[in-house]
Amino acid sequence: MSHLFQNTLALLTTLGALALPLTGFPSSARAELLPRPSEIEALGDDESVYSEAREELPENLYVLYRIVERIARANNLDRHPWRVVMADDSLINAYATEVNLIIVHYGLLDQMAGDVSALACVVGHEMAHHTERHIAIRTSRSADWQEEYKRPDDRELQERLAELSRTHESDADAIGYTYSATAGFDATGCLRGLEILSRLPGTLRDSSTHPAVPHRIEAIEMLMIEQPADRLQDTGRSNLENSDPLTYEMIEDQNWLRINSERGGSFVEDWNAIFPDATIAPKPEEPEAEVDIDDVSESEVD
Ligand SMILES: [Zn+2]
Repeated sequence: MSHLFQNTLALLTTLGALALPLTGFPSSARAELLPRPSEIEALGDDESVYSEAREELPENLYVLYRIVERIARANNLDRHPWRVVMADDSLINAYATEVNLIIVHYGLLDQMAGDVSALACVVGHEMAHHTERHIAIRTSRSADWQEEYKRPDDRELQERLAELSRTHESDADAIGYTYSATAGFDATGCLRGLEILSRLPGTLRDSSTHPAVPHRIEAIEMLMIEQPADRLQDTGRSNLENSDPLTYEMIEDQNWLRINSERGGSFVEDWNAIFPDATIAPKPEEPEAEVDIDDVSESEVD
């Protein structure tokens, strides 16, 4: 369950081994990441996806939608829907679970308020757990190793699992940095996010799941030199210019949000695109119930 941001390890070897999709950077000088024309239009258009979302969604969820949507498009991660759920408690945490599902605790939003780049880095870290298939890999390795060691509490087994988890966390940090920087967020937000975590108990040393936060901060600082944010941003700007805003759906209640893939979120629309000669018509609107005046007056007689 890849509990995110919490604690430690061998970052340098991990970072050296990372295979990030970072090829093809233009060498042009840094330019500000301006909104693309369709974004500007969208913001000024009452029918647009962004303005509709602004109206419909609670502020924190709206910001999460814009962050996920922007990171997904800037990094070509929009082939499948993303899901965000806000957990209504004071924990300073976020984690990745299921498929493309990101849980963000309210405490984290509260502590990062005013720093959208720090939040974007956390979101990028969680998206990286999904894109790198960390949950599936951990489950599979864990099953293999448990067969090998016979006893689930075997010390060597536990250490291998811990090392795998720390490696995944380091990978997610590095990729989360590239995702958020590519999307145009301030890369130092990753450092500020980690500084917050370093105040939590148990985060200054390696744990069974996370590398020590000071090591994680050093790794990000090194990455900022090796992969400068402005170069990443150039790639992101090009991807943003060549894609359309992703739509969204609120599901079940006000805390569950789906950011649709580039395909949209409608089975019916997809059906109609595949079978133009046998389209599914829009659902007829229910006629409004007629008020029976006699019934009303009778029911009010007492
Ligand atoms: Zn994590």
